[in-house]
Amino acid sequence: MMFTKRFIISCWLMILIISTNNCFSQSISKEETLMNIKGYPTVFELNIGEEYNYTRSISDSVVNHTIKLVKVTPYMSPNFWNLDEEGNGVDKFYNSAKVEVEIDRKLIQLTHRSYESPLTVGGVRIYVEAIKPWAHGADLFNLEEMKKDARFSVCLADEPWGPTNIGYHIGNYRFRSSSYNNTWGALVPYAPIYYHRGEDRGAIPDRLPIYSVVSGKVVGTPLPDGDGASNGLIIKNKDGVVFRYAHMNTENIIPDLKKGKSVKEGDLLGYTGSTWLGGKNQTHDPHVHLEMHYERNDKPILLSLFPYLIEAYFRYYPDEVLSIAGGYEWTLPGKTIELDGSRSIARPGKKIKDYKWILHNGKTVENTKVKVKYNTPGLYTEELLVETTDGDVDRDFLQVRVWPSDKNGTIARNVAWGWIYQSPVRNVKVGEPVMFWNRIHNTTGSVYIDFGDGTPPVKMYNSIDHPFMKPGRYVVAITAKGPQDDPITQKLEVVVNKK
Ligand SMILES: [Zn+2]
Repeated sequence: MMFTKRFIISCWLMILIISTNNCFSQSISKEETLMNIKGYPTVFELNIGEEYNYTRSISDSVVNHTIKLVKVTPYMSPNFWNLDEEGNGVDKFYNSAKVEVEIDRKLIQLTHRSYESPLTVGGVRIYVEAIKPWAHGADLFNLEEMKKDARFSVCLADEPWGPTNIGYHIGNYRFRSSSYNNTWGALVPYAPIYYHRGEDRGAIPDRLPIYSVVSGKVVGTPLPDGDGASNGLIIKNKDGVVFRYAHMNTENIIPDLKKGKSVKEGDLLGYTGSTWLGGKNQTHDPHVHLEMHYERNDKPILLSLFPYLIEAYFRYYPDEVLSIAGGYEWTLPGKTIELDGSRSIARPGKKIKDYKWILHNGKTVENTKVKVKYNTPGLYTEELLVETTDGDVDRDFLQVRVWPSDKNGTIARNVAWGWIYQSPVRNVKVGEPVMFWNRIHNTTGSVYIDFGDGTPPVKMYNSIDHPFMKPGRYVVAITAKGPQDDPITQKLEVVVNKK
């Protein structure tokens, strides 16, 4: 990447700003708390050097902790979907950040990245909601209201993440049962630079019920004719916390969800859909989008739903453990990336004892982290199998895009991309056909699907049905070739019930 004059000047400015902050560090007053509602984590922002005084009254005693922001170190990744003026990939998409804080004067290292959970340490649970380069560095949906270097949510160590009557929003769903997912913090692939400000869960449209996660009132609706955009249905609860659902198809939204209508937690709102730009336009990436914000002085403070939804999922579904492989990775041939399964989550009271990475090259590595190098461009899938001390297992798959370059080293955007889907995803019965969708684009030649049950792989087009004749957990793989004959593999797990 070329270091332009503008880039160098902005680096100098950044150093100046950071040093100025260090010289004039000060404590902020309680009035600068962004959200402080009973039953929810407290939300606040800090500049480097500032300290927050977190106070909670529990029955007749007062608990006090100080949280000081010490340092923020962002990490950037190359992105070859977005190209610069010369047609090269850019080395500037935000990947993650190391955030150093002092909790009661003790130095603690936190991480801001996709699929991260709150860290329990020093008597609190603390979560990095946002840091400035992530909040302000996007082409789409910048968090304009974020003013300081980092935003945090904090509750006490033994408290749940928000009210325990927050529900899960999708019925008959299984976590990461499609390969299309975007979470808070992640870069949305195949788009302008857009860090996702909510939670996307891939699902075949019009099949799974969508429920209200809280009791409250409808404050925005796309009914009766659709809103010409992504059909935002907005529900606000008594605490002023707002939940926005997107992409349901108009005819599948419950007709009496008019503005002012009261809903209860668990009420049916509609079904998973594919509406975007006013029509059923999500043909290759249908999903449910849900986001949350708190209304403060009529301005939205966007918050990560991820930790709230994980806890709601464990309340709603019996799954004992969730494997989290990390979503998406981007790299170049010959470069090494590190995969990290340590974000996998066991139900409270359960413990993960084994992490096993089953890699594209046939190797298996029993560790939370593994370094992988790709020799040829392509679309790869890396499998993470986790097991609890009680023998409960779960699988997740990480999608790795290895970008091709030509003889001169110029990066080409010409790579296969896309996702695969299944339906149903939960309570699959022996002998019941499971529908698979191939939504991988830019492939050449035939696409094959291996159902992982010993039957021979078959050629598929957009969709195929297959029944599984025995209960079990099956790894289904779709394989193809990309534009330069590069290898393409996408995988899903299908869980077939015993009865
Ligand atoms: Zn979304």
